[in-house]
Amino acid sequence: MGKIYVLKEPGRDKAWNIYALREAARLKRWFQGVYYSPRLKRLLAVFKPTPGTHVNMLVFEEMGESVLRDAYRMECPRGCNRCCVLRSGAFMIENELRNLPGDVRDRVTRQPSELIKTPGGWVRVYRLDTEPMGRCIFFDVEKGTCMLEGLGKHNKPIVCLLTYCTVFATRDGKLYLKKGYRVHRDGRAEIHYEEVDEKTWRRMVARMGSVWTRYRKIYKQQQTEEGTA
Ligand code: SF4
Ligand code: SF4
Repeated sequence: MGKIYVLKEPGRDKAWNIYALREAARLKRWFQGVYYSPRLKRLLAVFKPTPGTHVNMLVFEEMGESVLRDAYRMECPRGCNRCCVLRSGAFMIENELRNLPGDVRDRVTRQPSELIKTPGGWVRVYRLDTEPMGRCIFFDVEKGTCMLEGLGKHNKPIVCLLTYCTVFATRDGKLYLKKGYRVHRDGRAEIHYEEVDEKTWRRMVARMGSVWTRYRKIYKQQQTEEGTA
């Protein structure tokens, strides 16, 4: 088994966290997923760059791939959309704009932004959560899809690739739902998962997705009213 690079856990220092995200964004195309390791009792944001790629070891740590053997992979099933529709908190770091098509890049640069002094220099961060109730500007309310993902998975902001609710997980082709968790004194969170069948999994997606379906209903009503006004 080979080696993987795991992004160090975020801390309380916003500037450091933005710096770490910027460095992670550089390796986006080698992003493998987020896993929960019951052995380490922590979430692992895993990257596997091709040999010779520069990895900033200030923000990454190296691990053996075997650490993932008993780990659960975090999943974000289609139809939930909770993180995109309500108080998304979504943002994009300046170095993520480079590979976007020109019109999309222009849309981002028109967004409110903040310049943050990080250990790696000044970094501009663009807010994407400026639609009503914190909805992300790239969320297609009617279809329930991320417009950036439609351009390729690695066009999604790094913060979206790394953030999971941890409710849904898979391991060895089986489906799991979070049953509970316990936070230890040292801050480590122990998450318990229960294997479920597809029907139970789908039911949970529909439950979580009810925020989006309600939002979509109101959104459609508003669109109709605006169209007839
Ligand atoms: S709440 Fe979970 S499943 Fe729903 S959009 Fe967020 S990460 Fe995905
Ligand atoms: S960029 Fe995409 S995944 Fe991220 S919040 Fe916006 S719609 Fe959701």
